[in-house]
Amino acid sequence: MKKHISILGSTGSIGVNALKIAEFLSKDIKVKYLTAKKNFELLIEQTKKYKPKSICLVDKKLYKNLKLGINTKQVEILVGREGLIEISKRKDVNVMLNGLVGSSGMEPTLSAIKAGVNVALANKESLVMAGGIINKAMELSGAKIFPVDSEHSAIWQCLVGENFNDIRRIILTGSGGPFRSRDLDTFDNISVKEALKHPNWDMGEKISIDSATMMNKCLEVIEAYWLFQLNPKKIDIVIHPQSIVHSMVEFNDGSIKAQMGVPDMKVPIQYALTFPSHSKSPWEKLDFLSCGDLTFQAPDYDRFPSLQLAYQALKNGGTASAALNLSNDYSVQKFLEKKIIFTDIYKINYFSLQNHPWIKHPSLNDLRNLDDWVKNHVNEF
Ligand code: MG
Repeated sequence: MKKHISILGSTGSIGVNALKIAEFLSKDIKVKYLTAKKNFELLIEQTKKYKPKSICLVDKKLYKNLKLGINTKQVEILVGREGLIEISKRKDVNVMLNGLVGSSGMEPTLSAIKAGVNVALANKESLVMAGGIINKAMELSGAKIFPVDSEHSAIWQCLVGENFNDIRRIILTGSGGPFRSRDLDTFDNISVKEALKHPNWDMGEKISIDSATMMNKCLEVIEAYWLFQLNPKKIDIVIHPQSIVHSMVEFNDGSIKAQMGVPDMKVPIQYALTFPSHSKSPWEKLDFLSCGDLTFQAPDYDRFPSLQLAYQALKNGGTASAALNLSNDYSVQKFLEKKIIFTDIYKINYFSLQNHPWIKHPSLNDLRNLDDWVKNHVNEF
Protein backbone atom coordinates (compact mmCIF):
# COMPACT_ATOMS: atom_id res chain seq x y z
CA MET A 1 0.00 0.00 0.00
CA LYS A 2 1.31 3.43 -0.96
CA LYS A 3 1.98 5.70 2.02
CA HIS A 4 0.75 9.27 1.82
CA ILE A 5 2.88 11.77 3.72
CA SER A 6 3.02 15.44 4.60
CA ILE A 7 6.33 17.22 5.20
CA LEU A 8 6.45 20.26 7.47
CA GLY A 9 9.63 22.21 6.77
CA SER A 10 10.19 20.73 3.31
CA THR A 11 12.91 23.22 2.34
CA GLY A 12 15.04 22.58 5.45
CA SER A 13 17.69 19.91 5.90
CA ILE A 14 15.26 17.19 7.08
CA GLY A 15 12.66 18.05 4.44
CA VAL A 16 15.12 18.04 1.56
CA ASN A 17 16.46 14.63 2.64
CA ALA A 18 12.92 13.28 3.02
CA LEU A 19 12.10 14.33 -0.54
CA LYS A 20 15.19 12.49 -1.84
CA ILE A 21 13.77 9.38 -0.15
CA ALA A 22 10.30 10.03 -1.59
CA GLU A 23 11.85 10.31 -5.04
CA PHE A 24 13.73 7.02 -4.67
CA LEU A 25 10.70 5.26 -3.15
CA SER A 26 8.13 6.93 -5.43
CA LYS A 27 6.30 3.61 -5.83
CA ASP A 28 5.72 3.45 -2.07
CA ILE A 29 5.49 7.10 -0.99
CA LYS A 30 3.20 9.88 -2.23
CA VAL A 31 3.94 13.41 -1.02
CA LYS A 32 0.61 15.08 -0.31
CA TYR A 33 1.46 18.26 1.60
CA LEU A 34 4.53 20.49 1.80
CA THR A 35 5.19 23.51 3.99
CA ALA A 36 8.05 26.00 4.07
CA LYS A 37 8.82 29.06 6.15
CA LYS A 38 10.41 31.49 3.67
CA ASN A 39 12.14 29.62 0.86
CA PHE A 40 9.44 30.08 -1.81
CA GLU A 41 11.87 29.38 -4.66
CA LEU A 42 12.65 25.87 -3.46
CA LEU A 43 8.99 25.31 -2.54
CA ILE A 44 7.98 26.15 -6.14
CA GLU A 45 10.58 23.70 -7.44
CA GLN A 46 9.41 20.97 -5.04
CA THR A 47 5.76 21.58 -5.94
CA LYS A 48 6.48 21.15 -9.66
CA LYS A 49 8.42 17.96 -9.04
CA TYR A 50 6.32 16.16 -6.38
CA LYS A 51 2.85 17.53 -7.27
CA PRO A 52 1.42 17.78 -3.74
CA LYS A 53 -2.30 18.43 -3.18
CA SER A 54 -1.62 21.53 -1.03
CA ILE A 55 1.33 23.62 0.10
CA CYS A 56 1.82 26.28 2.75
CA LEU A 57 4.22 29.22 2.96
CA VAL A 58 4.42 30.47 6.53
CA ASP A 59 5.83 33.92 5.73
CA LYS A 60 2.76 35.71 4.33
CA LYS A 61 4.82 38.57 2.92
CA LEU A 62 6.29 36.20 0.34
CA TYR A 63 2.94 34.81 -0.88
CA LYS A 64 2.97 36.96 -4.05
CA ASN A 65 6.37 35.60 -5.04
CA LEU A 66 5.18 32.03 -4.48
CA LYS A 67 1.97 32.52 -6.48
CA LEU A 68 3.88 33.74 -9.52
CA GLY A 69 5.59 30.35 -9.83
CA ILE A 70 2.63 28.04 -9.11
CA ASN A 71 -0.37 26.95 -11.18
CA THR A 72 -3.05 27.62 -8.54
CA LYS A 73 -5.55 25.41 -10.40
CA GLN A 74 -3.41 22.38 -9.67
CA VAL A 75 -2.38 23.01 -6.09
CA GLU A 76 -4.05 24.63 -3.10
CA ILE A 77 -1.91 27.32 -1.42
CA LEU A 78 -2.24 28.09 2.27
CA VAL A 79 -0.32 30.82 4.09
CA GLY A 80 0.80 31.78 7.58
CA ARG A 81 1.09 29.95 10.85
CA GLU A 82 -2.63 29.10 10.61
CA GLY A 83 -2.03 27.40 7.25
CA LEU A 84 0.75 25.34 8.80
CA ILE A 85 -1.50 24.23 11.66
CA GLU A 86 -4.31 23.46 9.19
CA ILE A 87 -2.02 21.16 7.17
CA SER A 88 -0.75 19.45 10.32
CA LYS A 89 -4.37 18.47 11.13
CA ARG A 90 -5.19 16.91 7.77
CA LYS A 91 -6.04 13.27 8.24
CA ASP A 92 -5.67 11.95 4.69
CA VAL A 93 -2.01 11.02 5.26
CA ASN A 94 -0.43 7.97 6.90
CA VAL A 95 2.32 9.99 8.50
CA MET A 96 3.31 13.62 8.96
CA LEU A 97 7.04 14.35 9.02
CA ASN A 98 7.78 17.29 11.33
CA GLY A 99 11.10 18.78 10.20
CA LEU A 100 10.45 22.23 11.69
CA VAL A 101 13.12 24.02 13.72
CA GLY A 102 12.74 24.93 17.40
CA SER A 103 9.81 25.37 19.79
CA SER A 104 7.43 26.54 17.05
CA GLY A 105 7.33 22.91 15.88
CA MET A 106 5.47 21.81 19.00
CA GLU A 107 1.90 22.89 18.18
CA PRO A 108 1.87 21.23 14.73
CA THR A 109 3.00 17.95 16.40
CA LEU A 110 0.21 18.24 18.95
CA SER A 111 -2.40 19.13 16.28
CA ALA A 112 -1.48 16.06 14.22
CA ILE A 113 -1.55 13.74 17.24
CA LYS A 114 -4.93 15.12 18.33
CA ALA A 115 -6.25 14.50 14.80
CA GLY A 116 -5.03 10.88 15.03
CA VAL A 117 -2.18 11.33 12.55
CA ASN A 118 1.12 9.50 13.22
CA VAL A 119 4.10 11.83 13.42
CA ALA A 120 7.64 11.12 12.18
CA LEU A 121 9.31 13.48 14.61
CA ALA A 122 12.55 15.26 13.80
CA ASN A 123 11.51 18.29 15.86
CA LYS A 124 12.75 17.12 19.28
CA GLU A 125 11.71 20.47 20.75
CA SER A 126 8.07 19.29 20.54
CA LEU A 127 8.63 16.74 23.29
CA VAL A 128 11.01 18.94 25.29
CA MET A 129 8.36 21.68 25.33
CA ALA A 130 5.25 19.61 25.94
CA GLY A 131 6.08 15.91 26.39
CA GLY A 132 3.39 15.43 29.03
CA ILE A 133 0.66 17.10 26.97
CA ILE A 134 1.66 15.22 23.81
CA ASN A 135 1.79 11.82 25.55
CA LYS A 136 -1.72 12.37 26.94
CA ALA A 137 -2.99 13.33 23.49
CA MET A 138 -1.42 10.13 22.07
CA GLU A 139 -3.27 8.02 24.62
CA LEU A 140 -6.56 9.66 23.65
CA SER A 141 -6.19 9.52 19.85
CA GLY A 142 -4.07 6.38 19.43
CA ALA A 143 -1.66 8.24 17.12
CA LYS A 144 2.02 7.39 17.45
CA ILE A 145 5.37 9.15 17.26
CA PHE A 146 8.10 7.61 15.11
CA PRO A 147 11.42 9.19 16.17
CA VAL A 148 13.64 10.61 13.44
CA ASP A 149 16.41 11.88 15.70
CA SER A 150 19.19 9.38 14.93
CA GLU A 151 19.82 8.41 18.59
CA HIS A 152 16.13 7.86 19.31
CA SER A 153 15.61 6.00 16.05
CA ALA A 154 18.50 3.75 17.14
CA ILE A 155 16.91 3.05 20.52
CA TRP A 156 13.50 2.49 18.92
CA GLN A 157 15.07 -0.05 16.52
CA CYS A 158 16.92 -1.79 19.39
CA LEU A 159 13.63 -2.11 21.27
CA VAL A 160 11.64 -3.83 18.51
CA GLY A 161 10.33 -7.07 20.03
CA GLU A 162 11.68 -6.25 23.51
CA ASN A 163 9.94 -5.73 26.84
CA PHE A 164 10.36 -2.25 28.32
CA ASN A 165 10.71 -3.74 31.81
CA ASP A 166 13.87 -5.50 30.66
CA ILE A 167 15.73 -2.24 30.00
CA ARG A 168 18.56 -1.55 32.45
CA ARG A 169 19.54 1.71 30.75
CA ILE A 170 19.75 3.41 27.38
CA ILE A 171 23.01 4.91 26.20
CA LEU A 172 22.77 7.97 23.96
CA THR A 173 25.93 8.48 21.93
CA GLY A 174 27.15 11.93 20.98
CA SER A 175 30.06 12.91 18.76
CA GLY A 176 31.17 15.67 21.12
CA GLY A 177 30.72 18.21 18.31
CA PRO A 178 33.43 20.42 16.77
CA PHE A 179 34.94 21.54 20.11
CA ARG A 180 35.47 18.19 21.82
CA SER A 181 39.22 18.80 22.17
CA ARG A 182 39.48 22.59 21.73
CA ASP A 183 41.34 24.52 24.46
CA LEU A 184 38.68 25.49 27.01
CA ASP A 185 40.34 28.91 27.53
CA THR A 186 39.43 29.85 23.96
CA PHE A 187 35.70 29.03 24.16
CA ASP A 188 34.79 32.73 24.51
CA ASN A 189 36.32 33.33 21.06
CA ILE A 190 34.41 30.63 19.18
CA SER A 191 33.00 32.14 15.99
CA VAL A 192 29.62 31.36 14.39
CA LYS A 193 31.44 29.87 11.40
CA GLU A 194 33.46 27.51 13.59
CA ALA A 195 30.39 26.46 15.57
CA LEU A 196 28.42 25.66 12.41
CA LYS A 197 31.02 23.16 11.22
CA HIS A 198 29.97 19.77 12.57
CA PRO A 199 32.63 17.08 12.07
CA ASN A 200 30.24 14.24 11.06
CA TRP A 201 26.69 15.36 10.39
CA ASP A 202 25.44 17.78 7.75
CA MET A 203 22.51 19.57 9.43
CA GLY A 204 20.64 22.87 9.74
CA GLU A 205 22.05 25.91 11.58
CA LYS A 206 20.16 25.62 14.86
CA ILE A 207 20.99 21.98 15.50
CA SER A 208 24.62 22.53 14.47
CA ILE A 209 25.01 25.21 17.16
CA ASP A 210 23.22 22.92 19.63
CA SER A 211 25.74 20.19 18.80
CA ALA A 212 28.63 22.61 19.39
CA THR A 213 27.34 23.55 22.89
CA MET A 214 26.14 19.94 23.40
CA MET A 215 22.78 21.44 24.27
CA ASN A 216 21.56 19.07 21.54
CA LYS A 217 22.43 16.07 23.74
CA CYS A 218 20.74 17.78 26.68
CA LEU A 219 17.52 18.13 24.65
CA GLU A 220 17.90 14.52 23.49
CA VAL A 221 17.99 13.22 27.08
CA ILE A 222 14.68 15.00 27.69
CA GLU A 223 13.31 13.74 24.37
CA ALA A 224 14.27 10.16 25.32
CA TYR A 225 12.61 10.59 28.71
CA TRP A 226 9.25 11.36 27.08
CA LEU A 227 9.57 8.90 24.18
CA PHE A 228 10.58 5.86 26.20
CA GLN A 229 9.22 6.94 29.61
CA LEU A 230 12.30 5.93 31.57
CA ASN A 231 13.65 7.17 34.86
CA PRO A 232 16.31 9.83 33.98
CA LYS A 233 18.82 7.71 35.96
CA LYS A 234 18.46 5.11 33.21
CA ILE A 235 19.47 7.56 30.46
CA ASP A 236 23.24 7.79 30.00
CA ILE A 237 25.46 9.72 27.59
CA VAL A 238 28.67 8.38 26.02
CA ILE A 239 30.93 10.36 23.69
CA HIS A 240 31.62 8.48 20.46
CA PRO A 241 33.47 10.79 18.05
CA GLN A 242 32.98 8.65 14.92
CA SER A 243 29.12 8.72 15.05
CA ILE A 244 28.86 5.12 13.79
CA VAL A 245 27.06 3.69 16.83
CA HIS A 246 23.90 5.82 16.89
CA SER A 247 22.84 4.69 20.39
CA MET A 248 22.45 1.56 22.50
CA VAL A 249 20.12 -0.25 24.88
CA GLU A 250 21.47 -2.30 27.78
CA PHE A 251 19.14 -4.96 29.18
CA ASN A 252 18.96 -6.29 32.74
CA ASP A 253 21.14 -9.31 31.93
CA GLY A 254 23.97 -7.11 30.64
CA SER A 255 23.23 -7.76 26.98
CA ILE A 256 23.63 -4.61 24.87
CA LYS A 257 22.07 -3.88 21.48
CA ALA A 258 23.56 -1.12 19.35
CA GLN A 259 22.24 0.34 16.10
CA MET A 260 24.94 1.38 13.63
CA GLY A 261 25.46 2.87 10.23
CA VAL A 262 27.07 5.78 8.43
CA PRO A 263 26.04 9.14 9.88
CA ASP A 264 23.35 10.00 7.32
CA MET A 265 20.01 11.45 8.42
CA LYS A 266 18.30 9.81 5.43
CA VAL A 267 18.48 6.45 7.23
CA PRO A 268 16.41 7.38 10.31
CA ILE A 269 14.08 9.55 8.21
CA GLN A 270 13.42 6.63 5.86
CA TYR A 271 12.80 4.17 8.69
CA ALA A 272 10.25 6.53 10.25
CA LEU A 273 8.48 6.84 6.88
CA THR A 274 8.57 3.14 5.96
CA PHE A 275 8.19 1.59 9.44
CA PRO A 276 7.93 -1.33 10.11
CA SER A 277 9.88 -2.05 6.90
CA HIS A 278 13.57 -1.47 6.27
CA SER A 279 13.14 -0.63 2.57
CA LYS A 280 15.92 -0.52 0.00
CA SER A 281 18.06 2.59 -0.30
CA PRO A 282 20.77 3.80 -2.67
CA TRP A 283 22.85 5.72 -0.08
CA GLU A 284 26.32 4.85 1.16
CA LYS A 285 26.48 1.82 3.48
CA LEU A 286 28.87 1.20 6.38
CA ASP A 287 32.07 -0.61 5.51
CA PHE A 288 33.62 -2.07 8.68
CA LEU A 289 36.90 -2.67 6.88
CA SER A 290 37.44 1.01 6.14
CA CYS A 291 35.61 2.86 8.92
CA GLY A 292 38.58 2.79 11.32
CA ASP A 293 38.56 2.54 15.12
CA LEU A 294 35.40 3.12 17.10
CA THR A 295 36.17 4.90 20.39
CA PHE A 296 34.11 5.85 23.44
CA GLN A 297 34.77 8.28 26.29
CA ALA A 298 33.00 9.94 29.22
CA PRO A 299 31.23 13.26 28.60
CA ASP A 300 33.18 16.32 29.82
CA TYR A 301 30.75 18.29 32.00
CA ASP A 302 33.23 21.17 32.60
CA ARG A 303 33.60 21.78 28.91
CA PHE A 304 29.91 21.22 28.16
CA PRO A 305 27.93 22.23 31.27
CA SER A 306 24.73 22.19 29.15
CA LEU A 307 24.68 18.40 29.48
CA GLN A 308 23.80 18.64 33.17
CA LEU A 309 20.85 20.92 32.48
CA ALA A 310 18.82 18.00 31.14
CA TYR A 311 18.91 16.14 34.43
CA GLN A 312 18.23 19.35 36.37
CA ALA A 313 15.25 20.18 34.14
CA LEU A 314 13.79 16.67 34.47
CA LYS A 315 14.23 16.78 38.25
CA ASN A 316 12.44 20.14 38.46
CA GLY A 317 9.65 18.94 36.12
CA GLY A 318 6.72 21.20 35.17
CA THR A 319 7.79 24.07 32.93
CA ALA A 320 11.54 23.56 33.52
CA SER A 321 12.31 21.75 30.24
CA ALA A 322 10.14 24.15 28.24
CA ALA A 323 11.86 27.21 29.74
CA LEU A 324 15.27 25.71 29.00
CA ASN A 325 14.24 24.91 25.44
CA LEU A 326 12.70 28.32 24.69
CA SER A 327 15.73 30.03 26.18
CA ASN A 328 18.01 27.96 23.98
CA ASP A 329 15.99 28.81 20.83
CA TYR A 330 16.40 32.53 21.51
CA SER A 331 20.01 32.45 22.71
CA VAL A 332 21.14 30.38 19.69
CA GLN A 333 19.40 32.90 17.43
CA LYS A 334 21.25 35.75 19.17
CA PHE A 335 24.56 33.92 18.80
CA LEU A 336 23.88 33.38 15.08
CA GLU A 337 23.19 37.13 14.82
CA LYS A 338 26.54 37.72 16.60
CA LYS A 339 24.85 39.63 19.46
CA ILE A 340 26.21 37.34 22.20
CA ILE A 341 29.30 35.13 22.51
CA PHE A 342 29.33 31.33 22.44
CA THR A 343 29.62 30.85 26.22
CA ASP A 344 26.69 33.23 26.87
CA ILE A 345 24.33 30.58 25.48
CA TYR A 346 24.83 28.37 28.54
CA LYS A 347 24.66 31.32 30.96
CA ILE A 348 21.34 32.50 29.54
CA ASN A 349 19.86 29.00 29.49
CA TYR A 350 20.94 28.31 33.07
CA PHE A 351 19.37 31.58 34.22
CA SER A 352 16.08 30.81 32.43
CA LEU A 353 15.93 27.32 33.90
CA GLN A 354 16.51 28.61 37.44
CA ASN A 355 14.48 31.82 37.42
CA HIS A 356 11.46 31.42 35.12
CA PRO A 357 7.97 31.49 36.69
CA TRP A 358 7.68 27.74 37.29
CA ILE A 359 4.34 25.95 36.93
CA LYS A 360 3.85 22.29 37.82
CA HIS A 361 1.20 21.31 35.25
CA PRO A 362 1.42 23.87 32.43
CA SER A 363 -1.34 24.28 29.84
CA LEU A 364 -0.62 25.31 26.26
CA ASN A 365 -1.50 28.86 27.26
CA ASP A 366 0.99 28.74 30.15
CA LEU A 367 3.64 27.71 27.63
CA ARG A 368 2.77 30.69 25.40
CA ASN A 369 3.14 33.05 28.38
CA LEU A 370 6.42 31.38 29.27
CA ASP A 371 7.61 32.06 25.72
CA ASP A 372 7.01 35.80 26.30
CA TRP A 373 8.87 35.73 29.63
CA VAL A 374 11.88 33.93 28.17
CA LYS A 375 11.99 36.12 25.06
CA ASN A 376 12.05 39.27 27.23
CA HIS A 377 14.73 37.86 29.48
CA VAL A 378 17.00 36.81 26.61
CA ASN A 379 16.57 40.20 24.94
CA GLU A 380 17.56 41.99 28.14
CA PHE A 381 20.75 39.98 28.50
MG1 MG B 1 20.35 13.47 17.34
